[in-house]
Amino acid sequence: MRHNFGAGPCILPQEVFKQASQAVLDFKDGLSILEISHRTPEFEAVVSETVSLVKELLNVPSGYSVLLLQGGASMQFAMVPMNLLPEGKSAAYLDTGVWANKAIKEVKNFGTANVVASSKDSNYSFIPKNFEVPADSAYFHYTSNNTIYGTELFDLPAVNVPVVCDMSSDIMSRTIDVSKYDLIYAGAQKNIGPAGLTIVIVKDEILGKTGRSIPSMLDYRLHIEGGSMYNTPPVFSIYTAMLNLRWLKSKGGVAEMEKDNIAKARALYTEIDRNSLFKGTCAVEDRSRMNVCFVMENPDLEKPFLKYADENGFEGLKGHRSVGGFRASMYNALPITSVHALVELMQSFEEKYK
Ligand code: PLP
Repeated sequence: MRHNFGAGPCILPQEVFKQASQAVLDFKDGLSILEISHRTPEFEAVVSETVSLVKELLNVPSGYSVLLLQGGASMQFAMVPMNLLPEGKSAAYLDTGVWANKAIKEVKNFGTANVVASSKDSNYSFIPKNFEVPADSAYFHYTSNNTIYGTELFDLPAVNVPVVCDMSSDIMSRTIDVSKYDLIYAGAQKNIGPAGLTIVIVKDEILGKTGRSIPSMLDYRLHIEGGSMYNTPPVFSIYTAMLNLRWLKSKGGVAEMEKDNIAKARALYTEIDRNSLFKGTCAVEDRSRMNVCFVMENPDLEKPFLKYADENGFEGLKGHRSVGGFRASMYNALPITSVHALVELMQSFEEKYK
């Protein structure tokens, strides 16, 4: 099997894909998970177990709701200000990349986005640290992992306003203290399940304060009341997410994943720093554990390295077009043996070309 370093969508363990495919053929009495009614007790049990697993794995305190929505993280870019930003008010945003930028662009439909800091001028190669969030901001929004640029913000900045975080590409990869956040959202398709499902974890008491009329499908409160079943849910994505969260739990939960992810990141960054042909693209203290971006000292060697990787069974290493070079995405499902294999590949390439 090939080593899959792709950025997604949906990198899950093989055993989860197998179980999910079985349920497409026969979930209950020969009927597919895709055809049974989502109002059956069997499917309601799937929704309820998925929500419980998210709560358990992330240690979600009481007073928060876990929602299973659609529309991707991109829909949250608009839903967040629509539900949390009163007319004429301002929300603080940290600009750390393309996704943060897209979130910022949506705010103008509802109020003002105050960009408190940006690393755009250095192609988002670091996370800005020195900034102030005005005390009258409706909330502070940041992206915890910048999938394209390979930076990750591990410590929540000290702010005195409600905190909203886009955790699409590092949720479930490390422990977090949910009580420090007012709203967390994530497109499911990295560490949770197939695209089509979006997870939102929201502190109930922050809702209903904008005075704005909100279309039903975009109103968090209606989804809370409807138990994430206001309309037909993405049944396959939810079911597969449940299987994957069960897998994660069986592996010891998020804290164990975090240990693995630290070991995987350490192994690859150590090689990038040691190998004379490669170099990292981000500030060392902001290096992501999920998406490792690197280039070659001699750009002429990049195509030959990609070819060499392809011939030796490696998938998805080409960097995003806005950074170039390589991106090794190392979500929970990627075994450390694949990282060791990549390190060996880089070493043998060095032997050939140094
Ligand atoms: N935010 C981050 C950090 C992402 O990595 C992505 C997609 O990769 C998105 C938002 C957009 O997510 P979606 O495609 O679910 O709208």
